[in-house]
Amino acid sequence: EDADGLASIRSEDLVVNRTTTPKPKPALSELLFGRIMTDHMLQAAWNVNTGWSAPSIDPLAPLQLHPAAQVLHYGIECFEGMKAYMGVDGRIRMFRPDKNMDRLARSAQRLNLPDFEKVEYLECIKELLRVERDWLPDKEGFSLYLRPTYIATTPTLGIAPPSAALLYTIISPVGPYFPTGVKPIKLFVDTRHARAWPGGVGDCKVGGNYASTIRPQVQAAALGCQQVLYVLDNGAEGDGIVGESGAMNVFFLWRRKDGKKELVTPPLDGMILPGVTRDTVLSLVRSWSEFEVAERPIRWREIEAAVAENRMLEMFGTGTAVIIQPISTLLKSDGTALTVPFDSAETSRWIDRKPGTTYGAQKEPTTSLAGRLMRTIMDVQYGHTDSPWSVPV
Ligand code: PMP
Repeated sequence: EDADGLASIRSEDLVVNRTTTPKPKPALSELLFGRIMTDHMLQAAWNVNTGWSAPSIDPLAPLQLHPAAQVLHYGIECFEGMKAYMGVDGRIRMFRPDKNMDRLARSAQRLNLPDFEKVEYLECIKELLRVERDWLPDKEGFSLYLRPTYIATTPTLGIAPPSAALLYTIISPVGPYFPTGVKPIKLFVDTRHARAWPGGVGDCKVGGNYASTIRPQVQAAALGCQQVLYVLDNGAEGDGIVGESGAMNVFFLWRRKDGKKELVTPPLDGMILPGVTRDTVLSLVRSWSEFEVAERPIRWREIEAAVAENRMLEMFGTGTAVIIQPISTLLKSDGTALTVPFDSAETSRWIDRKPGTTYGAQKEPTTSLAGRLMRTIMDVQYGHTDSPWSVPV
């Protein structure tokens, strides 16, 4: 251990400086995604000479950065998105937070940002949640969205390994994604722009991955689509490889040509973000053993054929913000669209079920996989069903 700093982040060194001017809590109806922040932030600074500062929880305040800070020039930044929920037992609960810490550490490694103690940092995040407890509404659908962020602060225009960095976490209270019932979305099938490519950083949660997705999304919105589905054409003449959508992994439930029902999603080939929800969906459906599950490359023509031959049963995206997002339509650049009917009544039937009754036990036919998954995952998140995935704070 250095005289000035620490070799690693330690939760026992955490210092809490509470604000003396807490903000009034917003009305539940004001909780639009990511607009409002809570009163405090967690931060720990690293320097190549002195190591880590003691982590601290401080009143939320603007950062002081040198105008040459590397993050501002070369996008040396990575982040996470994870949520905490108020459990029915009155305890704050996180959902698989170890997965987010692992992914943050992997993203940081790719950017040559220093390693940090994942377990210790998670303990600091839990303390931040305890400090902000009053911001978490005790109502299903509401949560605290945590944004761990890691930036290179070295004041140099050199494209060089960071010698100073800041790891901080802020929190935004969020409301239900579907306040008026689940609605399917339309995706624009984009073969012109790519968000990831072989050897790139598509499998890391780095800020730079998102900067270039705004423009395609604006173009898709002008065509009435809420999101983009990235299909890497790569000279495949209209038969590219299906990737993912803006900030969601994608799943297809179809009948294969041999008649077998199968849930399929692209594999973790380095071009797909390893979503926590993706992994959760795969684990759940595999544990049910009701139909086949595959992680394999999906070609665009397979999607076209399945829809044309009425073999496509459901399409949905997965992500922390939304959990499951049904997709009804895939719009191509030539103006043609593929549409899969969305069973709104069946989906709602699952979501409106009495919580805690669906965790795999029933052998009911899966009439809406999207709805069943959503209910099952929410049951874990809000503590209706016991699961090692739900971590009390
Ligand atoms: N893909 C991308 C590109 C994302 O940004 C996200 C959101 N983190 C996801 C997929 C879904 O990941 P998760 O289920 O961990 O939220």
